[in-house]
Amino acid sequence: MGNMKMFNIASEDDIKKGLASDVYFERSISTLTETCKDHRVAMEATVSGPLDTWINFSGLDEVLKLLEGIDVDVFAIPEGTILYPRDSNGIPVPFIRIEGNYCDFGMYETSILGMICQASGISTKSSKVRIAAGDCPFFSFGIRRMHPAVSPMIDRSAFIGGADGVSGILGAKLIGEEPIGTMPHALSIILGDDEAWRLTLKNTKNGQKSVILIDTYMDEKFAAIKVAEEFEHVDYIRLDTPSSRRGNFEALVREVKWELALRGRSDIKIMVSGGLDENTVAKLREAGAQAFGVGTSISSAKPFDFALDIVSIDDKPKTKRGKLSGKKSVLRCEKCRKVEVVPYGVESKPCSCGGVMHNIIVKYMEHGKLLSQYPEPKEIRKRTLSELEYFRSSN
Ligand SMILES: [Zn+2]
Repeated sequence: MGNMKMFNIASEDDIKKGLASDVYFERSISTLTETCKDHRVAMEATVSGPLDTWINFSGLDEVLKLLEGIDVDVFAIPEGTILYPRDSNGIPVPFIRIEGNYCDFGMYETSILGMICQASGISTKSSKVRIAAGDCPFFSFGIRRMHPAVSPMIDRSAFIGGADGVSGILGAKLIGEEPIGTMPHALSIILGDDEAWRLTLKNTKNGQKSVILIDTYMDEKFAAIKVAEEFEHVDYIRLDTPSSRRGNFEALVREVKWELALRGRSDIKIMVSGGLDENTVAKLREAGAQAFGVGTSISSAKPFDFALDIVSIDDKPKTKRGKLSGKKSVLRCEKCRKVEVVPYGVESKPCSCGGVMHNIIVKYMEHGKLLSQYPEPKEIRKRTLSELEYFRSSN
């Protein structure tokens, strides 16, 4: 082992050098260098699974950073695009195509896949929570469940998927937002509820929402009543009820809501957190919760299994068993959203619904140079929301 590092992580430099790769790429490329250097290959990334869910594609930003400066052309479906991994005929959808000399970029396969598999899993899960939360805000609180080195990636992917904010300081910086924080249980444990709540309200800056965590010591209902009677302005009370006390979390939310309304304090909204996913968010929203902190289910979302395969050599279709050869375009109908994978070169065609299908694959990089400024996370999130609008109205 070379330099011992403080943490068990690859540095950006390690990744750029191809050291975060499986060793067989390095070994095969060193034996190929003389024979393959004149051959231009096209490789496409497709999903092997899961296939029963749509995907909100993300992680492309890092792939482009990784390949910048290497003599490759990169084509891809834009981040924040939502579609099934198979087209209407069951053909695998290529999400990225890289063209260049295999010896120049083959060793990055492991890193490229890792970047899109994990990010897309997170942004997809976040989009499912987005649908479940409806118009209520939800926040990504889950970086504590994964390695801190990837916390910005987790928060960016969650935000792109539709989260309204993120708790991580670096993640928030990356997406250009203020980080979202409420108060930790530790504050009540150290100071007692009264002092902790008073301080939290006092320290809430103008423009921020005040959030009081009420379940450290007390029953949620009686704590909510206490907050309602003692404080004039509170935006949210937060219920982070431990699982051992959660007989029926929805009933608890209904009860708290009722007691607040009875005292004329419907202005105090209920935020819930702790072990939530898209299913529990939907139920708790029905029960009256109005904001959600969602952690592990998003940050540890199951990755999509992307694979990267050679589909042509010197523009001649060629691939392995089980894959479809030749470069491809991905046509999508602007009206009914039907998707059809077609041989490269077809840019549009009429759809059976009467609409028109257009190629949604975009050229991002030529000879290792980005062709235009890459969109900000906020822009990508907007794409997600408009795509989800369609899914919401069609499901
Ligand atoms: Zn159509």
